[in-house]
Amino acid sequence: MRSAFGREDFLGDREREVAFVGRSNVGKSTLLNCLIGRRKLARTSRTPGRTRAVNYFLIDGNSYFVDLPGYGFAKAGKRERAQWARTVNLYFEQAVPRARVVLLVDGKVGATPLDVQAFDFLASLGARVVVVATKIDKLKKSQRARSLREIRAALKLPQDEEIDAVSAKTGEGLDALWRRISPRRLADSNG
Ligand code: GDP
Repeated sequence: MRSAFGREDFLGDREREVAFVGRSNVGKSTLLNCLIGRRKLARTSRTPGRTRAVNYFLIDGNSYFVDLPGYGFAKAGKRERAQWARTVNLYFEQAVPRARVVLLVDGKVGATPLDVQAFDFLASLGARVVVVATKIDKLKKSQRARSLREIRAALKLPQDEEIDAVSAKTGEGLDALWRRISPRRLADSNG
């Protein structure tokens, strides 16, 4: 619906929103396309990390999915990292109070040190972070619980904090994730 590059571009009329963030190549664009149900809606950039804008997608008339830039792409220098932090910071300055963020972690790769940093940074900005493991189809059923346990441990999540596991490829877990972050749920929790 709209791309924001700087402070003046952010949408000011949002009531409900959920933002998506994750390491470059984690499967964010593919997942957003699945959730929104329209292929090629989230722009997939050929050069990982190229997309610096914050993209808003209108869901059900009055709620938004917000596509935050990916982080941790190859060859990212200090400048790119600062740029990512600046963009995310700007977004949170104007987001609804305690906005909900879906942090995507690759189910096969696990939580990298950059994922841990991103999680801590988001939490420090006051976001409510929902952790979601992506590409779960790459893991055998027998490996999944362990992968989720390791992600939980790396991010120091409480035992009772749920981690959704999804696959955009097979569709597994998408209904459960949708229920967790649906506009109705947001309406209940964001006021
Ligand atoms: P982004 O950089 O986070 O937006 O990642 P993309 O959505 O562009 O996906 C990166 C790569 O992972 C692409 O080659 C996708 O086809 C692949 N991918 C995305 N989601 C899945 C998934 O659920 N399962 C598998 N096996 N591959 C996926």
